[in-house]
Amino acid sequence: MAEYNPKSLKAEEFINDGEIMETLRYAEENKNNTELIDEILKKARPYKTENGCRCRGLTHREASVLLACDIPEKVEEIYKIAEEIKLAFYGNRIVMFAPLYLSNYCVNGCVYCPYHLKNKHIARKKLTQEEVKKEVIALQDMGHKRLAIEAGEDPQNNPIEYILDCIKTIYSVNHKNGAIRRVNVNIAATTVENYRKLKDAGIGTYILFQETYHKESYLKLHPTGPKHNYDYHTEAMDRAMEGGIDDVGLGVLFGLELYKYEFAGLIMHAEHLEAVHGVGPHTISVPRIKRADDIDPSAFDNSISDEIFAKITACIRLAVPYTGMIISTRESEEVRGKLLNLGVSQISGASRTSVGGYAEEERPHDTEQFDVSDQRTLDEVVYWLMTKGHIPSFCTACYREGRTGDRFMSLCKNGQILNCCHPNALMTLTEFLVDYASEKTKKLGFEVIEKELEKIPNPKVKEIARENIENIKNSNRRDFRF
Ligand code: SAM
Repeated sequence: MAEYNPKSLKAEEFINDGEIMETLRYAEENKNNTELIDEILKKARPYKTENGCRCRGLTHREASVLLACDIPEKVEEIYKIAEEIKLAFYGNRIVMFAPLYLSNYCVNGCVYCPYHLKNKHIARKKLTQEEVKKEVIALQDMGHKRLAIEAGEDPQNNPIEYILDCIKTIYSVNHKNGAIRRVNVNIAATTVENYRKLKDAGIGTYILFQETYHKESYLKLHPTGPKHNYDYHTEAMDRAMEGGIDDVGLGVLFGLELYKYEFAGLIMHAEHLEAVHGVGPHTISVPRIKRADDIDPSAFDNSISDEIFAKITACIRLAVPYTGMIISTRESEEVRGKLLNLGVSQISGASRTSVGGYAEEERPHDTEQFDVSDQRTLDEVVYWLMTKGHIPSFCTACYREGRTGDRFMSLCKNGQILNCCHPNALMTLTEFLVDYASEKTKKLGFEVIEKELEKIPNPKVKEIARENIENIKNSNRRDFRF
């Protein structure tokens, strides 16, 4: 039997079933142990240092105890600390992005995804480079600067060369003041060589959802195709890092398996990346299964309530305080609003999950991957975020300045984010307001920016930020970022 070893490169050793089962037993035994819970909460709280603020994070065992705990006042405490951590390291900024579906050709048999090979009635489509351009122009015209590209796995139709061509096209389009400055990539597990090619193409984060960490379920949920190989899929992030990609994004598809199992696996995966590569995941996404073409979410009996979903999000925030958290438009405005206060730092806006959907006037459904709950425009989402005290950010400076991997983490850990990310967020928000926003959003946005400028601790930084914001308003751009 495999032994638990977070430093091993073998899936069955770093995502060790025995250790997860032991963790779940320990969490269940201690879920009412208030002394232990208080100790864990104390460890999770941010603490002050000479140059800012730090967090210790939690082990998968500690975080699992919190997730199992149902004592209402302790759960409230978890939520409070999650918000404190989010504000301490990310401030009130929320990074905006949109998915871009390139192709829904797929040779896998994932039973929860309508792109599975046996689905003969879904329309299959793959964007030409001309169509990619059209999509990018439509996205730039909304104000997007950051995309996550998505594609099914199909070596014939979507080989790595196709993905690389698309990335090149995306970066090449500059419509009016538009530019996509960071392309994150969500494609199937691949080889070190292909990851190196993605790195050389200038991608941001490589995102790959584990779907489920439970091997037996994984094999059943992915009965056919290359994705059936659990070890190859689970070890993908190590290959990505070997290929030079230092920002990787994890996630599980909640609803497929028991959430406590998934949660322990997810935190163990983060611990493994930190132990082996010295840097944890850049992001963690928390998708839940949605209705889609031939997919009925009620066929999956591990669906979780909004309350449990909120608790999972908050516990992830406590366990891995420096990791960005992403919530997509799979969730409603209401759920997204709640989760934003529990540690989420990135959200998508105005998403279309169909291939070629952005260039169409009406939302097309024929090639869609799943139903989108939050169907508001980007302008509406930006306005809404500001009314709730958040700052929508279109910044991609860290990536462009090479502040990725552990260099980004050290910025985060040293509390320099308020002198760096905050002014950048305000400048990029100004660009959005000037170029794309409605009058209503513009009015609120400029008021908010004025107030937020006051939060910048360093007076020199504040002065430069203010000057740049004025320049942007007066159409005198220098594309300056801290
Ligand atoms: N084919 C790539 C792969 O295998 O990782 C790309 C991923 S796919 C375009 C993006 C993600 O959507 C999947 O990893 C899966 O978690 C999620 N997904 C698939 N079907 C879904 C559904 N019915 N509802 C919600 N999310 C779904």
